[in-house]
Amino acid sequence: MKAAVLYERRKPLVIEDLDLVAAGPGEVEVELIASGVCHSDLHHVNRDTPTVLPVVLGHEGAGIVKSVGPNVTRVRPGDHVIIAFGSKCGECFYCVRGMPYLCTPASPARPRLSRGGKTINQFLEVATYAERTVVSEKNIVKIRDDAPLAICSLVACGVTTGIGAVVNTAKVEPGSNVVVIGTGGVGLNVVQGARLAGAARIIAVDVLDNKLEFAREMGATHVLNAAKENVIDRVKALTGGYGADYAFEVIGNPKTISQAYESVRKGGVAVVVGVSDENAELTFKPVWMMRQSKTLMGCAYGSSRPQVDFPRIVDLYMEKRIKLDELITRHFALDEINEAFRAMEAGEVARGILDLA
Ligand SMILES: [Zn+2]
Ligand SMILES: [Zn+2]
Repeated sequence: MKAAVLYERRKPLVIEDLDLVAAGPGEVEVELIASGVCHSDLHHVNRDTPTVLPVVLGHEGAGIVKSVGPNVTRVRPGDHVIIAFGSKCGECFYCVRGMPYLCTPASPARPRLSRGGKTINQFLEVATYAERTVVSEKNIVKIRDDAPLAICSLVACGVTTGIGAVVNTAKVEPGSNVVVIGTGGVGLNVVQGARLAGAARIIAVDVLDNKLEFAREMGATHVLNAAKENVIDRVKALTGGYGADYAFEVIGNPKTISQAYESVRKGGVAVVVGVSDENAELTFKPVWMMRQSKTLMGCAYGSSRPQVDFPRIVDLYMEKRIKLDELITRHFALDEINEAFRAMEAGEVARGILDLA
């Protein structure tokens, strides 16, 4: 089975034939149809992170169940599924409190990939830059058969994270003014989440005009190029001098996190969705937290419960309430993964997708 392996940071991924275990108890083997290419995969190539190498990256996958191990009840061969990344044990402190996006399992998943007898790790326990994968049944979300699987792969990360940040984390009310800083694959979904939630003004901020055009298509009412305009002044001017009700930072940079915080009004909420460097530090004046009653929130995986949220988001797409096709600007083959990373880094694509079947 072919997969894209990261052996060394800041080096291209290598396409290789790997051995994949048969689905064991509680496990499901999935024939992958497509995997979205997400910035957080690239972070582990470009940055020093706790992820142990070698690893097969990819965490935005959808496919068809090929086989199931003993005791699997949720799906059967032939079912269409989206794979939720990260542990989803269902039993830990967080899972039992309805926060599977913070799952901290008692024991990690068993090794499932190898080459020449040497273990290759599965990124976030899913490893979707591959033709097939074996994952826990708890990572599997069955979806309706009439939804296009390749397009629905984006629901596994970018779409759910973006819409979830608005709907689950911040709970944006209709009529709100919303700022979205960073309009990559996830930021665009924050924009469409804000539209879905009935936001009045949706102000998208980026430094690339082509990405701001994507944002307009996804529902931004105003766009600001931060390389040319003063973001905070412009946001205030667009919101009656007050600042936005909500700001979402979807880059992972202390400067833009501060900017998000400064762009919300008194009592406003800034949500950090972007993934920062491991050692990045944020400095700001906490006096404003009290004096202006502002909130700074974090958001992992759109505070989502995949078993509930994935089918809902697929329904919204099928009812034409959200856009997914428009997010996919380029398709790549598995062995074009390094080109897909380059195109994403250059800001050429809203979302790139690997066709795996
Ligand atoms: Zn992702
Ligand atoms: Zn858990």
